Amino acid sequence: MKKTTFLILLLLIITISCVSVKVSDTSSDTKIKNSETATYSTKKYPKNIILLIGDGTGLSQLSSSFYYNKKASNYLRFSQISLIKTSSASDLITDSAAGATAFASGVKTNNGVLGLDKNLNPVPTIVEELSATGYTTGVVATSSVVHATPAAFYAHVKSRRDYEDIALSLVNSEIDFFAGGGADFFSKRKDGKNLISKLEEKGFTVNTDRLPNNVKPVFNYKQGYLLAPDGMPKMLEGRGDFLPNATRLAIESLSQLGDKGFFLVVEGSQIDWGGHAKNADYLISELIDFDNTIGVALDFAEADGNTLVIVLADHETGGFTLASDNGDYNKIKPVFSTDGHSATLIPVFAKGPGQELFSGIYENTAIFDKMIKLLFKK
Ligand code: MG
Ligand code: ZN
Repeated sequence: MKKTTFLILLLLIITISCVSVKVSDTSSDTKIKNSETATYSTKKYPKNIILLIGDGTGLSQLSSSFYYNKKASNYLRFSQISLIKTSSASDLITDSAAGATAFASGVKTNNGVLGLDKNLNPVPTIVEELSATGYTTGVVATSSVVHATPAAFYAHVKSRRDYEDIALSLVNSEIDFFAGGGADFFSKRKDGKNLISKLEEKGFTVNTDRLPNNVKPVFNYKQGYLLAPDGMPKMLEGRGDFLPNATRLAIESLSQLGDKGFFLVVEGSQIDWGGHAKNADYLISELIDFDNTIGVALDFAEADGNTLVIVLADHETGGFTLASDNGDYNKIKPVFSTDGHSATLIPVFAKGPGQELFSGIYENTAIFDKMIKLLFKK
């Protein structure tokens, strides 16, 4: 008897709470807010995709933004989060070449290999597939633009170290915008070729000095920025706002170069290098710079309404942990367990049309499949 009364009471409470939710939904403020959110997330196909890769960024790396960044982390702006498995064809623990090839071409390959499958046959990249149908494409990195992660999107080579070959691939690719370091691989080559003049012949304006200062320039030409001989300087050495500014410039430039849509890859390359160096200050300063860059992409995407922003990593570096300082639970002491990569699952954040596809735990190659599905409206 008592049980029945309790159940009836429970049902009554549930009914009342449902009714009260419905009632509050009809208030005009909530209604506008809800319908806006609905339009934003239920538009199924994005026009543009911005893929942000924080090389070596595992959960502890991005968590450091919550403890060491004075501003609120831009990771907080995502509601869609999933995890990827990152092993390569050759190894349980991937390197950046195989990791980026999985995103760029949707295949598992061997560590060290770019744009080829595990049998070393070339596989088309998303940049090739999209530019063939009229999309504009770009890469931005804080490494050289020929380093493994950006290179996977336009090169097909057996060894990620073949930087001069990779530079030639960039010149011959359909990429419309690039920014990062690596000038020496274009202008101080063993074969004596000057690839900067080759780029200019192709209609590029190449700058080896700095990003433009003006905020809203009009760009109807391809642009290349090679602002360091090899990798860009560290944040700790005064790199400043290169990554967020180059990302903003890439977005503006790619939007103006075509109206079909754009695909932009942005890499926070040196989060990984901080991990290899087991240097927490290096790692965290690079992570915060990457976090600011995520903010630039999200600001554009939220205003635009047609852009999907995906933030992920190829793998974790350093076995990084925000441990306690000698058992003091009120003090964090960042520690590393390796100077290499680790096998931990990697978080993926997605926001914009199609974000629903990024749920659960899946292989890194599925990132390519999902992006193709969304941009080719499959
Ligand atoms: Mg990289
Ligand atoms: Zn690495």
